[in-house]
Amino acid sequence: MTGTVEPGDIYSMSTIANRERTNNVIDTAKDATQATVATREARLCSRCVLPDTFPGIIFDDEGVCNYCHRALVEQKLAAQREVARARFDQLLEEVRGRGTYDVLVGWSGGKDSTYILARLLKEYSVRVLAFTFDNGFVSKQAFRNMEKLSDSLGVDHIIYKGRFDVMKQVFNASALGDELYPKSALGRASNICTSCMGLAKSLALRLCIEKNIPMTAFGWTPGQVPLASGIFKSNPQMIRKMQEAASGPMRRLVGDEVVRPYFLEEEHYERPERFPYNISPLAFMVYDETKVYEYVEALGWKRPKDTDANSTNCLLNSYAINIHLDQARFHPYVAELAGLVREGRMERAEAISRINEMPSEKVVNFVTDRLGVPRYKSAR
Ligand SMILES: [Zn+2]
Repeated sequence: MTGTVEPGDIYSMSTIANRERTNNVIDTAKDATQATVATREARLCSRCVLPDTFPGIIFDDEGVCNYCHRALVEQKLAAQREVARARFDQLLEEVRGRGTYDVLVGWSGGKDSTYILARLLKEYSVRVLAFTFDNGFVSKQAFRNMEKLSDSLGVDHIIYKGRFDVMKQVFNASALGDELYPKSALGRASNICTSCMGLAKSLALRLCIEKNIPMTAFGWTPGQVPLASGIFKSNPQMIRKMQEAASGPMRRLVGDEVVRPYFLEEEHYERPERFPYNISPLAFMVYDETKVYEYVEALGWKRPKDTDANSTNCLLNSYAINIHLDQARFHPYVAELAGLVREGRMERAEAISRINEMPSEKVVNFVTDRLGVPRYKSAR
């Protein structure tokens, strides 16, 4: 017996499949003739939204995927969240007053990290340093939000803007380079996002060690970070491995000296006691996207109009989604959205509409023009 698939369970892959990519240029004339052949409908898991194009996916007789089976049942999760919350409270007391700040918050300006920042300041009264990595594509509205909120919340804020010539090279190589990262990395995010997040996380870690900040918090959603990874102490050996994997391709691309400021150096590894606790509070807080919006909007945060459905701060994301759809044949946010659906934190229909919504062509054009690559044409 094969699982039945409801009409609503299917989303069209035609927008993905009938775009043929040749050095970033799409030949629309060819697309028109190939559409009928290339168009296919993706089958989605009947519980979450992972498509049959997702790496390693298997469906059971009911059409439920192996990722859903592997996931913990909601009850067990709730108990584990409780344990993690208690551990977090205890850790905060432990680190309070130890360094120049208690917590460094990675602040993208998006809704999730803004929510974390505000709650830490308002409910835990810890001393926070907010840290933003500007990749050259942060929405203007996201900057306006940050300016307004850093003032009203009363928080010190560092914006680190990477050299644009370097960002450009890194993102262009990420867009083209299948060899830049192992294929397994593609499951969770696009290559472009992996590069950008690698830089942001590394700079945040470097700052924590240099400024002696014992804890760092990020706004990853429960779909991005599993509960088990919600709290951990950065381990120098593990970090060294991760840094080598992330910095290697960039060093080869732009040179040792250029990427040096973005990654850890020997002097940082010589102070293992300064490696911070790494916290993703949304992994164990009750995460409800609607409530997150309500909370930050009440503080004066406004949703940018120029970002895609899955980002509330970054324009580059629109381009990254298109590239990833072409390379991997599934939406780069599908793993995150599936996780939220599985845990009952997002309606399945909402997740399906997110993976169906294609990024704005205008924004994608803005990004390709700024990156200096040929414009991307979709067959829609
Ligand atoms: Zn599933």
